[in-house]
Amino acid sequence: MSNTSYQSYLRENQYEIEKNVAYGLENDYLITIYQDKRYKYFIIPLPSITEEEKKRVLNYLKLQKKEFKLVRISFDNTVLILKVKEGLTSISVEMLKDIINTVTKFLKEQQIAVGKHCIFCGKDNANKKIKITRIQYYMHQSCYDKAIEGIEKEKEKEGPKKDRGFLGALIGTFIISIPWILLGDYSWFVGFITFLFASFAFKFYLMFNGKLTKNTKLLIALATIIVTIVSEILILVINNITLSELFTNTNRELLLTLQLGLLMSIIGLLPILRQFKYMNVK
Ligand SMILES: [Zn+2]
Repeated sequence: MSNTSYQSYLRENQYEIEKNVAYGLENDYLITIYQDKRYKYFIIPLPSITEEEKKRVLNYLKLQKKEFKLVRISFDNTVLILKVKEGLTSISVEMLKDIINTVTKFLKEQQIAVGKHCIFCGKDNANKKIKITRIQYYMHQSCYDKAIEGIEKEKEKEGPKKDRGFLGALIGTFIISIPWILLGDYSWFVGFITFLFASFAFKFYLMFNGKLTKNTKLLIALATIIVTIVSEILILVINNITLSELFTNTNRELLLTLQLGLLMSIIGLLPILRQFKYMNVK
């Protein structure tokens, strides 16, 4: 949990703050601090660290495990990650300072990853700071440009992916509807298959590069309803039943199946459409 003294520490030490993440510089090391509900993460990229040095760092920090309430000390490649447990209250600023100082001083004394090593080429004197997955690294401007150029070329090669989401939704829904079409007059409970229509529509929509926009909900609903109706018509065709015959006494059970199928496909839509509430659609 963030408290005022933590925030003022960050400000005093010229951290850049973005929501629950803070980017700073301590003893010449870039440090990213994540604030989670009951944990703080200290993330320190050490691009030029060797395997032997990693072991040294881990062994040293294990000795401070208890004192600093470290629940995790690890490397993700060359990035040092420390996870500090916080109880109901945050750790004190003194403790925070102590952790940061202890770690960065040790690194400096041991001459581990000193300087500004580029995350891209590994060489020193990188002055640009960039953020990748919300962790701050050093990078050479030239390496940055090269990387961007590479990404752009890669994109050009692929070409823009065509949005065939709606087609995908129709295909996906149709695939799952096949057992229903074949067994349509078999028993009324088969109608429950239609409950799955919307989830297949959505899965295939995404598989066919369908974009997530405000209209996506409508397209999923449309695909679901269209396929439901088409498969119901196919059931009638396969069973050689005309629309007027459907409403006669002999076909009462089939009529019930078809009604239930339509109802279940609509009910199946609801949880899928509700998902959109939590998505960031433009
Ligand atoms: Zn570089």
